[in-house]
Amino acid sequence: MPEIVERPVDPQTVARLTAAGCDPRLARIYAARGLASLDELAIRVAPSTHPKCVRCWQHRGDVGAVEAHPQLCGRCVSNIEGPGETRMFF
Ligand SMILES: [Zn+2]
Repeated sequence: MPEIVERPVDPQTVARLTAAGCDPRLARIYAARGLASLDELAIRVAPSTHPKCVRCWQHRGDVGAVEAHPQLCGRCVSNIEGPGETRMFF
């Protein structure tokens, strides 16, 4: 079991990765300062406190934010009724 070490996140790297289309949640993991190799990577995982979207199955804080779609996240509502998200990779 590797030692768990808290790593500060480099905000400039998060901004660059996000601007390039990386999911902000993943950008924070990738931007952990001092991470020399994947051998050093250890991630503490905890259950999400957010509800699960019935369409995309992601646990997101904005599930139910749109009254007409109480079981969907904002991203899914946008994909169903609005212009949808801008896809960077497919
Ligand atoms: Zn969703």
